[in-house]
Amino acid sequence: MTDNDTATAPIVQMEKVNKHFGDLHVLKDIDLNVVPGEVVVVIGASGSGKSTLIRCINGLEEFQDGHIMVDGNQLTPHGKSGKALQKIRTEVGMVFQQFNLFPHLSVLDNVILAPMKVRGWSRADAVETAERLLARVGISDQAAKHPTQLSGGQQQRVALARALAMEPRLMLFDEPTSALDPEMIGEVLDAMRELAREGMTMVIVTHEMGFAREVADRVIYIHKGEIAEAAPPETIFDQPKDERTRSFLSRVL
Ligand code: ADP
Ligand code: MG
Repeated sequence: MTDNDTATAPIVQMEKVNKHFGDLHVLKDIDLNVVPGEVVVVIGASGSGKSTLIRCINGLEEFQDGHIMVDGNQLTPHGKSGKALQKIRTEVGMVFQQFNLFPHLSVLDNVILAPMKVRGWSRADAVETAERLLARVGISDQAAKHPTQLSGGQQQRVALARALAMEPRLMLFDEPTSALDPEMIGEVLDAMRELAREGMTMVIVTHEMGFAREVADRVIYIHKGEIAEAAPPETIFDQPKDERTRSFLSRVL
């Protein structure tokens, strides 16, 4: 990605997005563009609105005003997006803190399900893709097992392979390593690092600041539902301009 690549339309465009949960104003005038190939890392305190922000991008949360455009599909306020929402759901992959695998299905069946059901692929094609993706995240030998027979790190890599099987244009991650034992965090971050290197467009909520510094093109610090600062990692981590960013980082670094 280069800064002067202005010919490239953003994959995500959020403009003045506001979101309330009842009386709670959770997202305040969020403006955010993400261009193809860009890796954006979202940081901020617990409860600041990070999950809500990325869940708005694939329509898992409604918002009350503003505009969200994802790969040319317009999400409208109050959840009235219809076809655009379905389109976005098939084009955007998401990996959650809890892996959300189907417990009654084998690893392989977890990965082939959506491509067959949603994309209409033949079983043979879906299996071929799944095997390639499972190899890529280093768990080919686990394909016949059920999720409960796998470690947390392995389950999260299955979740990643499952999302990638839909050939997403954009990947969203909501604290993908927060539920993992420390020794398993590295293997999941490695798989994500590889994906970033291959040029996937990614929006990642994480508390892994070392990882953020390394892979992010841009880091966004959210404070009480507002984007307090958005800058390249060197700026955010070494010379934050906003007092709120400085204060947050002094507590977590
Ligand atoms: P983060 O991911 O940064 O920890 P969230 O986006 O999960 O923050 O939450 C932002 C705020 O919105 C918090 O105050 C949280 O309690 C509130 N919130 C989140 N989801 C809901 C919900 N479904 N109903 C009501 N309040 C919610
Ligand atoms: Mg969250």
